Amino acid sequence: MATVKAIHDFHSHTYLSDGGLSPVELIRRCAVNSYATLAITDHSGIGDLGRILSTLRADRDAVREAWPEIEVWIGVELTHLPPSVIPQAAYKARELGAEVVNVHGETPAEPTAPGTNAAATRCELVDLLVHPGLITEEDAAAAKERGIFLELTFGRGHSLANGHVAKTALAVGADLLVNSDGHLPEGLLTTTWARKIARGAGLTEAQADQVLERNPQKLIERLRLRSKYHQARVM
Ligand SMILES: [Zn+2]
Ligand SMILES: [Zn+2]
Repeated sequence: MATVKAIHDFHSHTYLSDGGLSPVELIRRCAVNSYATLAITDHSGIGDLGRILSTLRADRDAVREAWPEIEVWIGVELTHLPPSVIPQAAYKARELGAEVVNVHGETPAEPTAPGTNAAATRCELVDLLVHPGLITEEDAAAAKERGIFLELTFGRGHSLANGHVAKTALAVGADLLVNSDGHLPEGLLTTTWARKIARGAGLTEAQADQVLERNPQKLIERLRLRSKYHQARVM
């Protein structure tokens, strides 16, 4: 089985929500474990956005120069909000400096409110709908229309629907990513796990290459462009 060259992971957690590591330890462990890209995306509603994003920014900025081998993005996973509140929360998250906005999708493992997938895939401020469970073709098509990525996940329980997510995304041409949803060191991706997740969801080797290499580059380019624009505006 071929392995990916580097890991790009856009969904992870620290002790700022329900993960076990500090932001700095998470970055360190990923940096020494073949990660080229890490987005730290702690769970949040609306009230917690400022605390999470300011802590993540300070820690990420403190280690950025010392560990250039890993590109770290800060963000949030908007989690268990009523669907009607998602656009407002995504707006606030961006305003407070979120570089990546994930929405916690309708995983089979948790009672996420019905309508969450629909709300997330209609919101231009969302980058990624994570573990979307039994997503409909209509919602997957809405994600494609807005360039919102759909996740094949390593998260236990959430991953039960990976096959369905892959099939539905491929049917409408929505872009997939493989992410860890890591909360602890053992929940992080390795190059072999990343490919097993992609292949196990039913993708061919060529489709897995797309999802593990080209799709991450597409999102990274968007994030870099956005941060350049943001810096230009601040200066
Ligand atoms: Zn969690
Ligand atoms: Zn998560």
